[in-house]
Amino acid sequence: MTLRIAEIFGPTIQGEGVLIGEPTVFVRAGGCDYRCSWCDSLHAVDSENRHSWAAMQTEAVWEEVQRLSGGQPLTVSLSGGNPAIQDFGPLIGLGRAAGYRFACETQGSLARPWFAALDTLVLSPKPPSSGEKVDWEAFDACRQAGAGARQQVMKIVIFDQADYDWAREVHSRHPDLPLYLQPGNPEVDPTVPVDLQALADRLRWLTEKAMADRWFAARILPQLHVLIWGNKRGV
Ligand code: SF4
Repeated sequence: MTLRIAEIFGPTIQGEGVLIGEPTVFVRAGGCDYRCSWCDSLHAVDSENRHSWAAMQTEAVWEEVQRLSGGQPLTVSLSGGNPAIQDFGPLIGLGRAAGYRFACETQGSLARPWFAALDTLVLSPKPPSSGEKVDWEAFDACRQAGAGARQQVMKIVIFDQADYDWAREVHSRHPDLPLYLQPGNPEVDPTVPVDLQALADRLRWLTEKAMADRWFAARILPQLHVLIWGNKRGV
């Protein structure tokens, strides 16, 4: 099995969502079926970056995960791009047999049988500010495919009022999915310093809004890695 890999890095902490703070090795797949206006992973999305992606056999990816983790089983996060474009089932099989745990974050546009073998399936439908439109049938198919995963959660990035209203509607559609909200980071250029005050202001706006609306089902978190390292890649 050959996989298109944009980068493999870690161990570092997971900076977002339900696994925030957890030591993790990241396997970032190359390629995505979306083009979100504020994508912070364009190096793993745009086909013009394709030349920098490695064509790796599953076994080579697995060896690199083991090397980075020092052979100690930890969480492996499959990210992208959209990792669902490719077949990570064999990698999950190798890793889980050795005691590693697997998480995958995807927008929910492509359902894969290997979702069922995950420990954590993070479905991250993209709000209106992304410029993308969610295919809810495909999203529901992802939920079904991941029914065997240890947990399924939903993460939504919020940039503005329209995103917030949309997230409330999505939550009413999937009330059983634990929901994590994350204020968006409009500065995605790794060479430009992050405006931490602006991020804090957006986090406060989102928190106060959800509390005023008595929307207690959603957990609201910053991107921890951005607070620590800004937009630097590979951390
Ligand atoms: Fe970027 Fe994710 Fe959108 Fe793909 S789905 S373009 S990786 S933000």
